Amino acid sequence: GATIGILGGGQLGRMLSVAAARLGYKTCIFEPAADCPASHVANVHFKAPYEDEDALRAFAAAADVITFEFENIPAAALDLLANLTAVRPGRRALRVSQDRLVEKAALADMGLATAPFAAVDDAEDLAEALAEIGPPGILKTRRFGYDGKGQVRVDTPQGATAALDEMAGQPAIYEGFVAFSHEVSVIAARGLTGEVACFDPGENEHEGGILRTTTVPARLSAAQRADAVLIAGRILNALDYVGVMGVELFVTEGALIVNEIAPRVHNSGHWTQAGCAIDQFEQHIRAVAGLPLGDGGRHADVGMENLIGDDIDRLPELLRDPRASLHLYGKAEARPGRKMGHVNRVTGAAG
Ligand code: ATP
Ligand code: MG
Ligand code: MG
Repeated sequence: GATIGILGGGQLGRMLSVAAARLGYKTCIFEPAADCPASHVANVHFKAPYEDEDALRAFAAAADVITFEFENIPAAALDLLANLTAVRPGRRALRVSQDRLVEKAALADMGLATAPFAAVDDAEDLAEALAEIGPPGILKTRRFGYDGKGQVRVDTPQGATAALDEMAGQPAIYEGFVAFSHEVSVIAARGLTGEVACFDPGENEHEGGILRTTTVPARLSAAQRADAVLIAGRILNALDYVGVMGVELFVTEGALIVNEIAPRVHNSGHWTQAGCAIDQFEQHIRAVAGLPLGDGGRHADVGMENLIGDDIDRLPELLRDPRASLHLYGKAEARPGRKMGHVNRVTGAAG
């Protein structure tokens, strides 16, 4: 049978490996860390740094197609792999999502609404951005941010200096603060032949910058729901995308504002494991393997709760809840902010 290569060995890689196995594929992962969630389930683990070209070549030789579970793969590694084996989604989606400024500009080019934004490399840029966009806003590092890391709220022009210091010289982006009522995300898939299938939007709640819960259905009107799906489809088509993508949206009275995209399976799509016949992990494997996509339809209302850090101490109680569908990532040590697993609860049949 064919082998699917996965760059990254976290919980997303683990759940992708499980889905691949269910479809009869073998998996090999490329991940520098020895003991990681995906290494417990993948068939082969290439354990090497992303600079190790020989290891990358061996990985490419072992895989019939390569995908990834995180977006910060070094460009040189990806270029090397893409010359040897098909990488899906492709280089373009990765380049766009690796840099918040490139990402916002690409989304605006697609005609989609984003927060007002400006590039900030120094104090002068920030003063200009504040004059143009105004406070309040958020200063974010352009690269490598996740779970709200590398972001500082700017409420007054006086607060700008302190915010810029936090960027520690890294290129940044200033975004005007969007007064949204709530946040939703669309998990969408595009197949090798261009067909698109979207899951129903989920409503996301964050705590301390980290996703805490996702609930379906989200509070959206029929028109907003249709709009959310159209936005996702437009992004997938514009990027000639193959695979599953997470699209985060701010809900405002006037419009849906695109916050960011993730070129991979997404934490806010874990509810699909309990709410859909084909979950996001199987959908992604189908897409990158060139199989027909599954139906994105939802048969149940679901609440997904992340188990972060100490939450894992509630495991005995969760195990006694017969309706809590548990997904544990096999991480030995619970650190603050570390995602240890998640729980899906079906709350009713889809209305
Ligand atoms: P993730 O873990 O989802 O990848 P991230 O670190 O990449 O998060 P963002 O999604 O850009 O960061 O921002 C984190 C959260 O901060 C958002 O979910 C939202 O609640 C808030 N936020 C970010 N940008 C804005 C904005 N321009 N206006 C208002 N709130 C914002
Ligand atoms: Mg992000
Ligand atoms: Mg986000």
